[in-house]
Amino acid sequence: MNLDFTAEQLRWRDLAREFAREEVAPQAARLDREQRFPYDIVARMADLGLMGLTVPKEYGGSGGDFVGYCMALEEVSRADTSVGITMEAHVSLGCAPFVAYGTEEQKERYLGEVIRGGRRLWAFGLTEEEAGTDAAGTRTTARLEDGRWVINGSKKWITNSGTDITAGVTIIARTGEREDGRPELTAIIVPQDTPGYTRGPGYEKTGWRASDQRPLYFEDCRVPAENTLGERGRGFRQFLATLDGGRVAVGALSVGLAQACLDEALRRAKERRQFGRAIGEFQAIQFKLADMAMEIELARNMVLKAAWLKDMGRPFSREASMAKVFASETAKRAADQAVQIWGGEGFMETNAVARYWRQVKINEIGEGTSEINRQIIARSLLSEGASP
Ligand SMILES: Cc1cc2nc3c(=O)[nH]c(=O)nc-3n(C[C@H](O)[C@H](O)[C@H](O)COP(=O)(O)OP(=O)(O)OC[C@H]3O[C@@H](n4cnc5c(N)ncnc54)[C@H](O)[C@@H]3O)c2cc1C
Repeated sequence: MNLDFTAEQLRWRDLAREFAREEVAPQAARLDREQRFPYDIVARMADLGLMGLTVPKEYGGSGGDFVGYCMALEEVSRADTSVGITMEAHVSLGCAPFVAYGTEEQKERYLGEVIRGGRRLWAFGLTEEEAGTDAAGTRTTARLEDGRWVINGSKKWITNSGTDITAGVTIIARTGEREDGRPELTAIIVPQDTPGYTRGPGYEKTGWRASDQRPLYFEDCRVPAENTLGERGRGFRQFLATLDGGRVAVGALSVGLAQACLDEALRRAKERRQFGRAIGEFQAIQFKLADMAMEIELARNMVLKAAWLKDMGRPFSREASMAKVFASETAKRAADQAVQIWGGEGFMETNAVARYWRQVKINEIGEGTSEINRQIIARSLLSEGASP
């Protein structure tokens, strides 16, 4: 087993680390407080190639691999997970389905628009009021009429869908019924300015407050039948496969946040003095730091292994769920311990660890809750066995 990274992967990590330290971290607290989307930061990230990191070069992307992407995403999220989720939702959920299932024309057109255009993001619309964990419970419908899909319904909490942020969204809609009575679900591309497609205001959130999520509404929204992404009726499978990649990436995002917690905990352990000594000299604090570091190391390795399997074209669904659950729960424990090490100061919004503590919870919910990911892992163990 070779644990050396390629020069290209290290280049992405270092580029993202330097950019995140210099340009993202200093703005994180203010953006969170003001709930402001960081247009300037996202534009710079597009210029640096981070927003098209895994998109092939022929479509204007950076042509990087998934390991390099996870390393870069960890660094961005270490500085600000709001910016991390903006990058993740665009690259893993917005662009990846085009790369995997798009026709040559769709790739040229839509990836070209968002990547070469450089200032626009693409959204992924699966969740609805009645279709959360039970994502196949989609109520949004699309019927074919004169060579066009006529879409009616709504979506909820869709990241990167604001009018001045996005170029469009790929949604999943019910396009018929199968012979066995289950709904036929199809992925459909809906460009931003299509009549009948509107967005509601952003939400008041506990974390990811500098990222953009909105409800989407479709009222007799018409797009050409050519806007079908992949095969008609295969939409749900495609979205599940897309989420496998997304889960590895949310794992990387969680490792970045956990690392930020450790960074702050270490700083405080050295600086804060009680009983005439730095608190880092007390064994109780040292053990917390050691546990945080061990778990982060393990979570990072799980994320990178899942990413590597994906790069190798091998099955990685079980490892993706494992990495997502373990990394998100590691981040939760790390945020909790960081606040504990900071004491009462950790409860003050003036200190970063309070923000981390608020932000961390969503990692256990978005792109598949811990419960549903544990079910995926268990089903895989029961059907395929436990050995790797
Ligand atoms: C900030 C934010 C950004 C988001 N971005 C997007 C996006 O870009 N695109 C998108 O499509 N969606 C997005 N989502 C939606 C997200 O993916 C869902 O919130 C998530 O899938 C869980 O669905 P739910 O919130 O409806 O929870 P529910 O499905 O209502 O689940 C509630 C609880 O019940 C548990 N539960 C449900 N079913 C089972 C079961 N069978 N067995 C055991 N436990 C179960 C869950 O694990 C959870 O603990 C976003 C959500 C948020 C909050």
